[in-house]
Amino acid sequence: MLRRTVRLMLSALLVAVAAIGGTVATAGTAHADECYTWGRTLSEGTSGADVTQLQIRVAGHVAYGEILAYDGAFGPATKAAVTRFQQAYGLSADGIAGPQTFSKLYELQDPDCTPIHFTYSEMNKCNSDFSGGAVSAASAKENAKRTMWKLEAMRKALGSVPINISSGFRSYSCNSAVGGASNSRHLYGDAADLVGSPSLCTLAQRARYHGFGGIFGPGYPDHNDHTHVDGRTSRSWSAPNCGV
Ligand code: ZN
Repeated sequence: MLRRTVRLMLSALLVAVAAIGGTVATAGTAHADECYTWGRTLSEGTSGADVTQLQIRVAGHVAYGEILAYDGAFGPATKAAVTRFQQAYGLSADGIAGPQTFSKLYELQDPDCTPIHFTYSEMNKCNSDFSGGAVSAASAKENAKRTMWKLEAMRKALGSVPINISSGFRSYSCNSAVGGASNSRHLYGDAADLVGSPSLCTLAQRARYHGFGGIFGPGYPDHNDHTHVDGRTSRSWSAPNCGV
């Protein structure tokens, strides 16, 4: 009986040791993420596809009215966005994307590279594959993903409250069915109509801090029941009933 207890204790100890060993090994090796894994620390002056991947994920953490370029060149604007991202999530804010920043980004992204609080299906209630719009299905889907990362930043800034999307990507046929403008950004996949709470005016006002070029809300024709945000690179904002 005693011998059996000792043996059980010993095996429990071995399991514990194995678990500790496993933890140490995991912490000591690079984190492999199902979506995308960065292989080096990125700071001002670096460039490459890995910088573009970073820019996509921090583009919602810009200054008022600013739109971050997805150009793969880590300049002052990218540094400022990384710094704001770090501040938003309570990391040490040095504007350098290293292991701590990447870990937070891995935490925030799903295996399909969308941010954890948004999905491709929320951004596409039109069809299953983002086809039939003004750009290729692949481009429309990519644009939708980039828009969701901006929305993730906005969601965080609003106190981690849910943001609801009533309409995202539209093919030409979906767009005409809902009476969308013939040159609607919804055809490109980078537009989202936001509804529910926070209020439409709060959404219209807050969107100015998260990299959206087009923002239309209450008081703008046909926008009294939603706030539209999009990724155009020029600024076009109107929500007269919100005082903005
Ligand atoms: Zn819209």
